[in-house]
Amino acid sequence: MRTAVERALGVHRVLEPAGVLPQAALRLDADPAIGPDEVRIAVQRLNLDAASFRQLSEAAGNDGEAVRAAVLDIVGTRGKMQNPVTGSGGMLIGVVDAVGPDSPLGLRVGDRVATLVSLTLTPLRITDGLARWDGRAEQVPAEGTAILFARSIAAVLPDDLPDAVSLALLDVCGAPAATARVVERAAARSVVVLGAAGKSGCLSLAAARQAGAGELTGVVRNETEAAALRASGLADRVVVADATDPLAVAAAVGTPVDVTVVCVDVPGAEHGAILATAEGGTVVFFSMATSFPAAALGAEGMAADVTMLVGNGYTPGHAALALDLYRTTPGVRALIDPRVEV
Ligand code: NAP
Repeated sequence: MRTAVERALGVHRVLEPAGVLPQAALRLDADPAIGPDEVRIAVQRLNLDAASFRQLSEAAGNDGEAVRAAVLDIVGTRGKMQNPVTGSGGMLIGVVDAVGPDSPLGLRVGDRVATLVSLTLTPLRITDGLARWDGRAEQVPAEGTAILFARSIAAVLPDDLPDAVSLALLDVCGAPAATARVVERAAARSVVVLGAAGKSGCLSLAAARQAGAGELTGVVRNETEAAALRASGLADRVVVADATDPLAVAAAVGTPVDVTVVCVDVPGAEHGAILATAEGGTVVFFSMATSFPAAALGAEGMAADVTMLVGNGYTPGHAALALDLYRTTPGVRALIDPRVEV
């Protein structure tokens, strides 16, 4: 018998290896029959984590059919959507269709929700073979069931935004919240965002501005993104550099800044981020493609006295902050809408 604490964390759903938490598990039990403290969601759409989707697409040579087959295979084998290479997942939206009598989540049958816990620990069963998805976009129309534990979190979807937009915003809502918190606590003036024209990147710029930073630099990978970011008005300065080329990033940024936020969806941005950051400054690694050894050994190797934070996907108030930044900041909408199939 599992204790209530273990059940709240979902340990009772772990099939292999026994005793680990669901996120570390190789396989989860995705049985749609719920326990008294669980909630079942009728799935409508998945949002695959950007780093995971990119990795799957590249591994499949951008063949959408092969990407779809790979996602079905992962979910079928693991009982959850956790990319074995990147380790990352994403999140989902759907409708609550069963609530156990002891669930503390405050959800009701019929609520339209987004899960704010990662797909990497969410028991998931797909029943439509992802027939409505062409394998070419991060958002995946899907039918099936997902299970929330007593300690999971979910947000009721807002009525004023398209679901696809809410899903995209809520997937990355940890980034603006983490950025705002760091800027406020450090009273930071200057901020660099790597991958600034992406979803989490543009939200982080807007959050940094709102939190009081005054010198915002966006690093993007090409002139097309630079033009879009300039037009958005979110950054004071836009520079083009490959985030995976540390010397190019350092040269493009110039004087190192108080806070650097890594929002690219590719590996290899650790050293450029460290070089872009001033002594005593902070790097927030929001990207799931970040390597802990590359960051830690890189900072040591450069004798860089920087604080390095793992971008926690959860900060209290993170969902509301991201949704509000989208509603109130035209530049954020201009950058996010084209990335989302509304
Ligand atoms: P996104 O919208 O795809 O944005 C990523 C941006 O980085 C894009 O503009 C991309 O440009 C740019 N980029 C890629 N390679 C680059 C390079 N070499 N140099 C400069 N820019 C480059 O992705 P997102 O949804 O914001 O996600 C960003 C990261 O956050 C991902 O790694 C994702 O895994 C992570 N994430 C973390 C959490 C968490 O809880 N910590 C939660 C969700 C997501 P192109 O569009 O031209 O490729």
